[in-house]
Amino acid sequence: MEEKTIEMITKLVMEAMNQNNAEQGFVVPIGVSARHVHLTQADVETLFGSGYELTKKKELMGGQFASNEVVTIVGLKLRAMENVRILGPVRKASQVEISATDAIKLGIKTPIRESGDIKGSAPIAIVGPKGVVYLQEGCIIAKRHIHMSPEDALTAGVNNGDTVSIKVENERGTTFNHVQIRVDKTYTLEMHIDTDEANAAKISTGDTAIIIK
Ligand SMILES: [Zn+2]
Repeated sequence: MEEKTIEMITKLVMEAMNQNNAEQGFVVPIGVSARHVHLTQADVETLFGSGYELTKKKELMGGQFASNEVVTIVGLKLRAMENVRILGPVRKASQVEISATDAIKLGIKTPIRESGDIKGSAPIAIVGPKGVVYLQEGCIIAKRHIHMSPEDALTAGVNNGDTVSIKVENERGTTFNHVQIRVDKTYTLEMHIDTDEANAAKISTGDTAIIIK
């Protein structure tokens, strides 16, 4: 085929795709969050030893990282889950994020909360190789949310703190309501759901959602 022809076809296809996107709505890539733990530096040292610092396994969105370190989380009745990943960097308060299924397995009544909003949330114990941390509160089921930059928010026509609905067009075809918009200049566009939500809707990391106006 002539190079010019290929160029023209490419242009037409691109235009058609953009047209399609504009009709469909704002498209957001999905990241599925497995259960994980955020820790204060003091709690890192209680669990791993004095002066210990988390080591980076994989970079995540917004300057966060999956660390090489894992812990065991323990709920009431001493039901436990091993190999729970710690996300860095360290925070001002320790927090454990689990799915609703995990909450049942661990035997703890866990509220759905925005990350960081842990007041009055569920108690949980965290066990590391060098010690144990007991959190009076700090265990939550994360509220589903979309991270985006101020530019993306402008394009999508949403503001920080807004609640939207999204739909996923796949074999199951699912709509999620009560999706919180979180805008920050350090964020790259990504919707976060937990493993329960992903499994129920047959969604994998990298699939896309469409914001419904
Ligand atoms: Zn998130």
